[in-house]
Amino acid sequence: MEIKKIAVVGAGTMGNGIAHISAQSGYNVVLVDQSQDYLSKAVARITKNLDRMIKKERITEADKQATLGRIKTSTDLKDCADSDVVIEAIFEDRGVKKEVWGKLEELCKPEALFATNTSTIPITELANFTKRPERFIGMHFMNPVPVMKLVEVIRGLETNDETLSAVVELSKKLGKEPIEVNDFPGFVSNRILLPMINEAVYAVMEGVATKEAIDGVMKLGMNHPMGPLALADLIGLDVCLDIMEVLHEGLGDSKYRPCPLLRKMVAAGRLGRKSGKGFYDYSR
Ligand code: NAD
Repeated sequence: MEIKKIAVVGAGTMGNGIAHISAQSGYNVVLVDQSQDYLSKAVARITKNLDRMIKKERITEADKQATLGRIKTSTDLKDCADSDVVIEAIFEDRGVKKEVWGKLEELCKPEALFATNTSTIPITELANFTKRPERFIGMHFMNPVPVMKLVEVIRGLETNDETLSAVVELSKKLGKEPIEVNDFPGFVSNRILLPMINEAVYAVMEGVATKEAIDGVMKLGMNHPMGPLALADLIGLDVCLDIMEVLHEGLGDSKYRPCPLLRKMVAAGRLGRKSGKGFYDYSR
């Protein structure tokens, strides 16, 4: 199937990036969110990111205008009806995703491919909210989408080979490097990243070293661009805790238990950069 039009549902952190790279790669995009306010913010963010690329001389003003010209915005899911692929990036909430996928199933053409950007909800479960689990797949982009190369492509239990190869091809056309993984809690990225962050929090709690020392060891010794505690602040400590809970519950192994210090910090509202304070202070 030739892909010409992509619907991106959810215009937040991830959705605006997905719309940006899709339009920049020549696809017509409809970007859908609940209100015009969310959509205006998303278009402003895309414009800012394109301006940054012009400054770095990676694109021209004409490229920017062409990219923006390919993005239509809408508050009505009906505008997804003629899309060849729908990529969903709405809140990480089963109930909300179930409702939206149910509506999309009714509205979209039967041959359209459905992809979700969920970080933690099983693809097989979301696929079951539609009547086309064989054409349903996970496309897990990384944040920030225009910068990060990886797309984790996750097959649900029923995903067919045609859907997998179409989405692998699409990811490459979007300038990404797709890596295929199977549907297990946390997929590969969060299954490995989050236990490392959780272990760093244990190291703080047990007084193994200071937070600066722990981050320093991982940066200088392991060549990580950022230490795990600084990264936790960037991701959001509440998001880190949620993902650890998913791993703990989904895999049933005590090695994934969230660190009590992580729970305590979330309970105190210390969520990292977004709240001004996490392991580090961002208030100044
Ligand atoms: P976000 O909160 O920034 O954006 C979500 C957007 O979805 C909001 O603009 C919201 O208005 C919209 N939305 C909610 N319900 C809707 C509905 N019924 N119809 C239309 N729009 C609706 O969230 P995000 O960080 O962009 O995350 C989106 C998805 O991507 C989640 O599933 C998350 O797990 C996943 N994800 C996030 C990251 C990350 O680093 N933020 C990384 C990888 C994957």
